[in-house]
Amino acid sequence: MDLGVAGRVALVTAASKGLGLASAAALAADGAHVAITARSAEVLERAADELRSSGAEVLALPGDITHPDEPARVVGAVVERFGRLDILVANAGGPPPGRALDVTDAQMLDAVNANLLATVRLVRAALPHLEASGHGRICAITSYTVRQPAGGLALSNLARVGLWGWAKTAAQDLVERDVTLNLICPGPHRTDRMLGLGGVPARAGDPGDFGRAVAFLCSSSAAFITGTTLVVDGGATLGL
Ligand code: NAP
Repeated sequence: MDLGVAGRVALVTAASKGLGLASAAALAADGAHVAITARSAEVLERAADELRSSGAEVLALPGDITHPDEPARVVGAVVERFGRLDILVANAGGPPPGRALDVTDAQMLDAVNANLLATVRLVRAALPHLEASGHGRICAITSYTVRQPAGGLALSNLARVGLWGWAKTAAQDLVERDVTLNLICPGPHRTDRMLGLGGVPARAGDPGDFGRAVAFLCSSSAAFITGTTLVVDGGATLGL
């Protein structure tokens, strides 16, 4: 399927591995120029080389996306390099596991900073460029826990539901600016994060397929899809 993103510019944060990298790869495979971020410059540069081997033009921007100044810095660097920004895929690492009555205030604030505020700051920084693009697309990678909170993941559950509430209201405000905003909510996928949380379950998704779902939400054909959550969990959750 032609996504209609050839020549468009995409910023995918937290994308040297896993679901972020798979999203960048799917957009690059369809002809988009991509900028990717992550904290480890070495791993990020390896990922950028992997993407370049498919012929894409790639900008690697090492840095911690949870730092309050980082979203504006990376958006500025993308626009300086490519002269435009059409697509934002907002992603960040997930918080550590924790039981609801064991997690501290500091841990909760960290989770909100990483998995809610970092996305809001990215949207704010990218918005003037997405609006100027005329077909701006925002896709935030969250978790299937927005539909059905997962036991033992209190930090993730609290931050991501907050982001969903914000995004749902922001999507309406963005309609008149021709910018779509959707959440994509992975269930278990074969990534390093899943390995770190105790192993990949027998039934887990392929990051490549997930990346192509992200690319669809960022495509020309998805112009009328906004304010939604696309749960990609192989049927794991029962939330309506
Ligand atoms: P992953 O395989 O661990 O990859 C995380 C990526 O994000 C890496 O490139 C990492 O690079 C980068 N990153 C982490 N923290 C960052 C930061 N503060 N600033 C910039 N880059 C950062 O994780 P994943 O499985 O792809 O998960 C992506 C998101 O989906 C997470 O929020 C995760 O909780 C959520 N999720 C995943 C699953 C799953 O099954 N995989 C299920 C539900 C939800 P550096 O470490 O070098 O920064």
